[in-house]
Amino acid sequence: SISSEAYRRRHEVTVSGDEVPPPFMSFDATGFPPELLREVHNAGFSSPTPIQAQSWPIALQSRDIVAIAKTGSGKTLGYLLPGFIHLKRCRNDPRLGPTVLVLSPTRELATQIQDEAVKFGKSSRISCTCLYGGAPKGPQLKDIDRGVDIVVATPGRLNDILEMRRISLNQVSYLVLDEADRMLDMGFEPQIRKIVKEVPARRQTLMYTATWPREVRKIAADLLVNPVQVNIGNVDE
Ligand code: ADP
Ligand code: MG
Repeated sequence: SISSEAYRRRHEVTVSGDEVPPPFMSFDATGFPPELLREVHNAGFSSPTPIQAQSWPIALQSRDIVAIAKTGSGKTLGYLLPGFIHLKRCRNDPRLGPTVLVLSPTRELATQIQDEAVKFGKSSRISCTCLYGGAPKGPQLKDIDRGVDIVVATPGRLNDILEMRRISLNQVSYLVLDEADRMLDMGFEPQIRKIVKEVPARRQTLMYTATWPREVRKIAADLLVNPVQVNIGNVDE
């Protein structure tokens, strides 16, 4: 086995923040519950990806995170699996509203995130639905009324449903902004800010992005509290 420093060097992991915990270099090191480890094993994964290895221990400390890593690096499970652990600790009656909220730029990406949440969350009895535009609202509203632990949403559609007062975000305590750079490029900043106003300030916020330009830094500074920053590889500004 190798040291945390050697692992970080080998996988181009850089971190900044107060007392950043060492990476989990194996799945066993995570302390995830057996049913979750079984899912990971069934998926055929042999070890955490670098973004998972470094962001899981931070997320499990309930700290805010900015994670900067390129596409295909395993970011989805990077925030979903700690989200499952968060749900185990503080799950509400899902009919009062979701506990975990993931914002994603497109319908396609939101659907992929939901598929991953359903696949890995089923054995932990975690429920998830997806809200996106270009589809009828009826079935989406029905899922909300039935109650789900996790909502994955595009900012436009979630904002529409909020304006209809058909969803409450006052139970959300784990908020993820996935592909933050892309959401800003697509002009979603006003919707994101309106949505976040409906989420209690007492929450954990995780931001995932492939690039780290000024606009993303600005929204991170506004929405996150004392985040730990994790970079994998070279960062495009
Ligand atoms: P990103 O969001 O960073 O673009 P994804 O979360 O979509 O990346 O993951 C890319 C692919 O890697 C997916 O097919 C996912 O199932 C797979 N994957 C995730 N974690 C691991 C792992 N620890 N080992 C192997 N493959 C993984
Ligand atoms: Mg992704």
